[in-house]
Amino acid sequence: MFLNDINITFMEPCVADPEKIRLKAELSDNIVELMPYLNTVISNAVFNKNVPLLSFTKEFRLIVLYPQSLTMAKAVNMTDALQVLDWLKNLINDTWGKRETITPSYEKKEKPTVLQLYNWLPKTNCKECGELTCFAFATKLLLGTQKIENCKLLFRDEYDNARETLMDMLKVIL
Ligand code: SF4
Repeated sequence: MFLNDINITFMEPCVADPEKIRLKAELSDNIVELMPYLNTVISNAVFNKNVPLLSFTKEFRLIVLYPQSLTMAKAVNMTDALQVLDWLKNLINDTWGKRETITPSYEKKEKPTVLQLYNWLPKTNCKECGELTCFAFATKLLLGTQKIENCKLLFRDEYDNARETLMDMLKVIL
């Protein structure tokens, strides 16, 4: 095992959403050499090799990973946070075990903007996805709280190109 433990050192309610929690945690082992490999494995990771840090989302939770610490925001509660930390520890150890088969990436993947996503939507504001507007749908796509499958219009033949482009853009987010 490469990483033995991730221990929470600080926790408080999220500023933006007091129903959720944010926390800091320490890693028992330094993962700096593994970060480019995690950048490859975590499709929505944004890597800044100068700090270094790796930021990504796990559904709606926001995680920033440093060589020997991390922050997490928008965890549902302590149980949820512990489950995500357990998932992350397993992911780190799994990536370490498979590193000889993974091409490390030093690329800084940029997230698309809401407007870039919106530009590829049908823009009919038909509300079939449950949102009032296509722009609201794009905003939730970016936040990871909506799914592209919920825009049925996008799955018609005439939107093949737009749908495929959106799916490529969403790989950085999901
Ligand atoms: S279903 Fe698609 S086209 Fe209709 S409002 Fe939602 S995003 Fe826009």
